[in-house]
Amino acid sequence: MIRRDFLKTASVLTAGALVGCTPKEKTETVKAHKTIGLQIYTLGPELYAGDLAANFKRIKDMGIDNLELAGYNAADSKIGGVEMMEFKKMAEDAGLKIISSHVNPPQLFAGVAGKENKGSDGAFSASMKNDIIESWKKIADDHAKLGVEFLVEPMMPILPNEEAVKSFCEIMNLSGETVKKSGLQFGYHNHNMEFAKVVPGGTKAAFGTIFDQTEGTQIIDLMMANTDPANVIFEMDVYWTVMGQNDPVEYLRKRADRIKMLHIKDRMVLGASGMMNFENIFNQFYANGLKYFWVEIEDTNSGKQFERLQASMDYLNNACFVK
Ligand code: MG
Repeated sequence: MIRRDFLKTASVLTAGALVGCTPKEKTETVKAHKTIGLQIYTLGPELYAGDLAANFKRIKDMGIDNLELAGYNAADSKIGGVEMMEFKKMAEDAGLKIISSHVNPPQLFAGVAGKENKGSDGAFSASMKNDIIESWKKIADDHAKLGVEFLVEPMMPILPNEEAVKSFCEIMNLSGETVKKSGLQFGYHNHNMEFAKVVPGGTKAAFGTIFDQTEGTQIIDLMMANTDPANVIFEMDVYWTVMGQNDPVEYLRKRADRIKMLHIKDRMVLGASGMMNFENIFNQFYANGLKYFWVEIEDTNSGKQFERLQASMDYLNNACFVK
C-alpha cells in the first residue's frame, strides 16, 4: 500500500477541519492546567543560545512542566555541553522536572560502520554486548543522580533479519536489567524503520526498505515479542508510526501492555498538517491510563523552534481532548 492510500484508510486522519472545543468549553479548558512534557531535542541549539536558565523559564511559561532530555554525553556526563547537575538545577529552578532521557550507548552504532562487531547472521558479538552493558552502568548512575525515571534508547542500528532483531532484543533486555539496578526503567523509541519487515536469514537492511519488503514480520512486533515487559517499555512516536504506515491508535489498543509513553509529533507544528488525528490518539492515551507524552518538533536547526513550540502549545492548550 502506498502512503497516500494508507492515510485514507487509517484512523489517524483528522476527521474534521477543526479539532477544537466549543467557546465555553474552550475557556474552561484553557484555564485548566494541563500536564505537558517537552522532548528538548525539539529546540536544538536554540535551547543553549543566550541564557539557558532564562530559556528554561520561557519553556515553563509556555505551560510545560516536564522534560525528556536528549544530548547527554556519556564521555563527559554533560548535557548539551552543560555539566549535568548544573543543567538539572537550572531546569528545576525554572519549575521543570526531568522525567526521561534519550541516550544511545556509544558502541551501539559501531556495528554499522564496522561489520566486525556482528556475526554473519547479523547477531551482535559477545564483546559488543558487554561493552554496551558496561556503558549503561555509567549512563544509569548519572541519570539516577539526575533523578530521571526513564532511560530511552531512541534508535536501532541496521537490523537486516530476524536473527539480528532478536540479538538486539537480547541486548535491550540486558540493558533494561542493568539500568533497573540504578532504579530506572529502560525503554525504546521508534522511528519508521521499526515497521519494516524482516525474515529469518534476510539480507535486506531495514533502513529505507519499508515500502519494498512485503514478506516477514515487522521489527517492532518482534521487539515487543522478544523483550521482557519488566525490562523494556516502548515509547511510541506517533508521527513515525504513521510514516511507517501503521496506526498509533491501533497499537495503543493492542499493545497497551507495552506502550507506556508517547512522542506527540506532526510533520512540523502540531495539528498543522491534518494528517495526525491527535484527538483519537489522546483519547486512547488517557483510556490506557498513561501519564507522560513528549512534544517533539523536527527541523531543529531552523532557528524557529521556540516559535513552532509556542504554536504547538497553543494547539494543545486549545484542544479539549488534551488534559
Ligand atoms: Mg520522536
